Amino acid sequence: MSRILFKNACLLDCTGKDPVDGAWVLVEDGLIAEVGQGKSPRSKIDETVDCGGKWLMPGLIDGHIHASLFTNDLSDLHRKYLPSTGCFMAAGILKDTLLQGFTTVRDAGGIDAGFRVAQAMGLITSPRLQVCGRSITMTGGHADPRLPSELCPPVTEGMLGVVADGVDEVRKAAREQLRRGADYIKIMAGGGCASPADEPDTVQYSPEEISAIVYEATAAGKTVLSHNYSNRSMQLCAECGVHSIEHGNYLDRKTAKVLKKHGCWLVPTMATYEIMSARGEEFGLPAYFLRKMKEVREHSENALAIAVDEGLKIGSGSDVVGSGQPYKALEIELKAKVMGAMGAILCTTKNNAELMGMEKKIGSVEAGKYADLLVVRKDPLKDVRIFQDRDNLAVIMQGGQFIKNTL
Ligand SMILES: [Zn+2]
Repeated sequence: MSRILFKNACLLDCTGKDPVDGAWVLVEDGLIAEVGQGKSPRSKIDETVDCGGKWLMPGLIDGHIHASLFTNDLSDLHRKYLPSTGCFMAAGILKDTLLQGFTTVRDAGGIDAGFRVAQAMGLITSPRLQVCGRSITMTGGHADPRLPSELCPPVTEGMLGVVADGVDEVRKAAREQLRRGADYIKIMAGGGCASPADEPDTVQYSPEEISAIVYEATAAGKTVLSHNYSNRSMQLCAECGVHSIEHGNYLDRKTAKVLKKHGCWLVPTMATYEIMSARGEEFGLPAYFLRKMKEVREHSENALAIAVDEGLKIGSGSDVVGSGQPYKALEIELKAKVMGAMGAILCTTKNNAELMGMEKKIGSVEAGKYADLLVVRKDPLKDVRIFQDRDNLAVIMQGGQFIKNTL
């Protein structure tokens, strides 16, 4: 049994309360055992971390990452790398994500349950993982990487989507991902940016296909998340019982009300558009990708503002890929422009924990939860950009283990 005491902290517990000075947190066997203010426990402490008045908070959670999208040529990865090489590349991305302060992530398509198992076994240094394996896409949909000129069948190896059409095929595809240990099912129910043969403001999959997938996920006690930009596709997904809409850039008031009625989450992902719009040419993105990223970026702030105004449940994801992978914390800055520093930080902690069904384990500094903790050198409520400078992350703890400790 090990007991680690963090003392003299300004505690931002991310329950929604204002920070408190002079706080302490006792970590025992990987869990938060006690949280208090003032006089701290003295007995049987194995290690004391004096925070010196710095900010202590829960580890960040990124609700939408792609560890398997490791270089910028997204629709060519399967042509250039063997799946085994891809696994090592993804493991590198995951390690770096943890060092950015994200102690838990939700992978939105690509890596499978083997990564989750490897993390739990301590084989890789990585955030805690929820994974969906392959996303499910229709022929010509967002996860079908074929150019219009390619007349071959879709590639079925590696960390790619699975192409499935019609109720029987999508049902089978969902069951196969569930059989392989997916935590949820990811579908492409609308067009996207990185895909070479569709447009973002479109509908993919019929209500019958979406309902069949939702039925299978629900039957297994799992949820469905869906990639969408267009209003019609978001409405269809919410009506069919999809748990969360990812991106949602074209969200209008009418659609927000439909999402609200069905209790559907929105997970805006603003960082990836910002980075790729600014630096896409330098990164060598294909022209179609860059054009579409710039188009959807124009709408991302407006969508978030509507979502806040309509009282939607809002999670947070960075969706950064390729050269954008090191900049996941940019998402907090972009969200804060619309919802303020506290709102953006809560999206990245408390809300994401609830989105992932892990609110009893992560997302705030409360007794009984995993000791996933950060000590940051500067006040995040004054300037959320502090998360983007890794020197400000003085301590990163995951499950009671120090990943980084510079105090
Ligand atoms: Zn994504």
